[in-house]
Parts: sequence; structure tokens; C-alpha cells
Amino acid sequence: MYKDKAVLEIKNIQKFYNSFNALDSISLKVNLGELVVLLGPNGAGKSTLFSIITGLSSADKGECFINGYSIKEDGIRALKSLGVVFQQPTIDLELSVIENLLFHCRLHGLELQKVIKTIERELKSSGLEKKINNKVRTLSGGERRKVELIRSLLHKPLMLLMDEPTVGLDPGSRSDLLKKIVNLKLQGTISVLWTTHLVDEAEKADKIIILNKGKIQAIGTKAQILDKAKEKKLERAFFKIVSKSLT
Ligand code: ADP
Ligand code: MG
Repeated sequence: MYKDKAVLEIKNIQKFYNSFNALDSISLKVNLGELVVLLGPNGAGKSTLFSIITGLSSADKGECFINGYSIKEDGIRALKSLGVVFQQPTIDLELSVIENLLFHCRLHGLELQKVIKTIERELKSSGLEKKINNKVRTLSGGERRKVELIRSLLHKPLMLLMDEPTVGLDPGSRSDLLKKIVNLKLQGTISVLWTTHLVDEAEKADKIIILNKGKIQAIGTKAQILDKAKEKKLERAFFKIVSKSLT
């Protein structure tokens, strides 16, 4: 029903911190069912862009639409379609896994009886069913991220944002999380915008956006990015594109 309709559309976003231009004329689209990776080194502006998409800060210029609703003019409707996993964990360590998840359901006005089955199924598929009553403090970093991911999807968003979700995770947890996101995307009912500075995390993306120093340096499929940089490996293409933009 939403095919070919942009779930996220960003038009000409400009953001300054005093006189520092953190985002310069950023425009991009994410369609339903797409996995888009925003790839950029530290300081590129990834989290700044996230703060604008989530309505936590406002752009100096430009517009951002989620499911057709302007985040500035119609923030409540726009945010309804959004699931978010922030760069810094935002989960209560003193509450149990289930308490954290049910609190989120109440915040969103979800019927607990309806979501409890989903919660049980998702915890099981993440290998966390035995930890449902454990305090989050006792979970590993990877397990906490999985709970945050489950939580972000409970209200069935159309757009999932994840800001460097694998930072600090061991290689096993990192690849688990990547697999989960690829599977989620394959269901075709959600779009994902994932930020990272790790090139290998972009390998499976439908679209890669290379951001550096607040500017989009390249946008396209992996094949298009390789072609643009005249390279065979994404890692080399990324470094070539980013280092050219520094000169
Ligand atoms: P990334 O998430 O890609 O690492 P950020 O969006 O966090 O990048 O930061 C982009 C740039 O903006 C960096 O140079 C950073 O120092 C600067 N910056 C971020 N937040 C602020 C702020 N609140 N005030 C001033 N500068 C900021
Ligand atoms: Mg960041």
C-alpha cells in the first residue's frame, strides 16, 4: 500500500551550532521496505541528523517528513510512525526486561494483552526468554540492545532509526543485531535507517549514504558507490570518497 512512497523524506536540511555548519543541504528519501545505511566517520553529523528526524532539535532550514507528515508542523502524527534506538542506551537498568517493555507499551497506549504474545515471541527469538524478569543491569551490552530493538518495534512503526547501535558490542552480538535487521527488512513492512562508521555494516544495505563533514558525498547502491569510486571493495571506496571530500 505504501510501496514507492517515501516513509522518510528529508529536504534541504541545514543545521548550525553557532557558526559551525553541522549539516549542509541534506536531502534524502527512504522508501518502505528499504534498509538504508548512513555511513560516516565520527563527527560527520549522523546524530545531529537523527536529532532532527526525531524532533529533538530543529533544523535551521529545510523540512523532514515521516510517512508524509512534517515533523515540524505535525510532530505527533509524524513520530507515531517512528521507532528509535539511540546511540546512547535509553533503558532503565533497575527495571526488569518485561517492566521496561510494558512501560513503553503503556506510553504508547497499546493493549497489553495484545502485545504480550509479541513480546514473548520476540524475546524467545532473541534468546532472552529466560531473562524476562531479570533487571536490565544484569544483561550484557548486546542483550540490552536487543531489548531496545524489541521495544522500538512494539508500536509497529513504519520507520526504524538506529544510531550506531553496534558501538561497544562484541563481534557476535554485532553480527546478531545485523542479521536481525536484515530479517526485519526482508519482511518488507518497515524501513530502516541505520547509522555507522563501520563500512562492513553497509554491505547489505539497499542504499548507502556517505556523510562527511555535514555533507552527503555519495548516495546509491553498493554497486553505484563502487562505480563512483572506481573501486572493488566498499571499504576502499568509502575511504576514497571521504578523503577526497577533505581536500
Ligand atoms: P556523528 O554522530 O556523525 O559522530 P554528530 O552529529 O554528533 O556527529 O556531530 C557533528 C558535528 O557537530 C561534530 O563536529 C560535533 O562536534 C558537532 N556538534 C554536535 N553536537 C553539538 C552541539 N550540541 N554543539 C556544538 N557542536 C556540536
Ligand atoms: Mg553519533
